[in-house]
Amino acid sequence: MRILLVEDDPLLGEGIQTALRRAAVAVDWLTDGAAALAALRDGGFDVVVLDLGLPRLDGLSVIRAARAAGVTTPVLVLTARDRVADRVQALDLGADDYLGKPFDPDELLARIRALHRRASGQAQPQLGREPLLLDPVNFGVRWHGRPVDLPRREFALLRALLEQEGRIVGREALQQRLYGWDDDVASNSLVVHVHHLRRKLDPALIRTVRGVGYSLVLPAAAP
Ligand code: CA
Repeated sequence: MRILLVEDDPLLGEGIQTALRRAAVAVDWLTDGAAALAALRDGGFDVVVLDLGLPRLDGLSVIRAARAAGVTTPVLVLTARDRVADRVQALDLGADDYLGKPFDPDELLARIRALHRRASGQAQPQLGREPLLLDPVNFGVRWHGRPVDLPRREFALLRALLEQEGRIVGREALQQRLYGWDDDVASNSLVVHVHHLRRKLDPALIRTVRGVGYSLVLPAAAP
């Protein structure tokens, strides 16, 4: 999952970014509304977490302009507890949810997951199908009924591939899902993560499409 975080308070932004990354969510963090609108128009985000009081362009204007431009990315607005009018206006302009500051990082994560789930049309929090099932809430993986323990980045990679099951996912798209803009990405780290997944699950599960990316192919369902 890839999140756009727009928050001009450095301490709060840092805290949210850390909490999300700990949960294996890729975060791009911007601190002003105009840059946020440009990034939203470019696309590629699953959810945007948007502060309302922002330099250059306030959050409400970002929502209005983004929706007018046809951007459908779910928006979770961060507001001060006592600003009811702001929340109402944000929701009316096309925000999908809001959270009052201060908030618990776990609640933020849960709401992000719920928005992502709703946007991708899933009622169930479980992803995949037999023999590969992922539980994005607890980072649990079951392969042929056997629990497999994966570090967060390997889990995020497996999830990104599973969401596009049977399709080729480009290396760059995978790297974007795994890391934020300012992460130092070793060029071979994706190869290493794929290698680990093959070893822990099945060598045939993830196919390399030379020069392009990877494709996860589940065995055909039993008749
Ligand atoms: Ca602010």
